[in-house]
Amino acid sequence: MAITLPPLPYARNALAPHISEETLNFHYGKHHQAYVDNLNKLLDGKPEAKASLEDIIKGSAGDAAKAGVFNNAAQVWNHTFYWHSMKPNGGGAPTGAVAEAIKKDFGGYDEFKQAFSQAGATQFGSGWAWLVAANGKLEVRKTPNAETPLTDKNATSLLTMDVWEHAYYLDFQNRRPDYIGTFLGHLVNWDFANANLAKA
Ligand code: MN
Repeated sequence: MAITLPPLPYARNALAPHISEETLNFHYGKHHQAYVDNLNKLLDGKPEAKASLEDIIKGSAGDAAKAGVFNNAAQVWNHTFYWHSMKPNGGGAPTGAVAEAIKKDFGGYDEFKQAFSQAGATQFGSGWAWLVAANGKLEVRKTPNAETPLTDKNATSLLTMDVWEHAYYLDFQNRRPDYIGTFLGHLVNWDFANANLAKA
């Protein structure tokens, strides 16, 4: 069973004006699709081709001989998780259990925003910023390239933000901090974070 590109949870123009349809045409339509296509080529005829995406990622993590499989598989998973981490008319302060946990573990929403923004801004080169639940508390993490908290058995991802240049360059050029502020202010999907926390 080949890995397929999951549908976007909204129309390609639904995040505009914050993230444009043009960005989604490239980022979802070209980049995410390319990770799917590359992964299927790499797995063609191999036993792993029958495994779930999650098992392919866990089974190739940390194995230099499987770096291509890991990078493409993890990027397929990370991007799907990223699309769901945003929604039209999202952003602003969290609600529900995530809001309570952020207050308990960061001190408040402003402190969380500062930690998450800093993780995204200081991830040198390509990578991701994450909110995860690990060992009974929330944490902000950053990962380079395709690395993902999915390979940490103690962590459950709640949200992610792509900070590869292809995520923001068409809309924000080099202004990564403006993209991060827009993600938090207008796009972040706290319903998704709450649904993930409920499974942690
Ligand atoms: Mn990306």
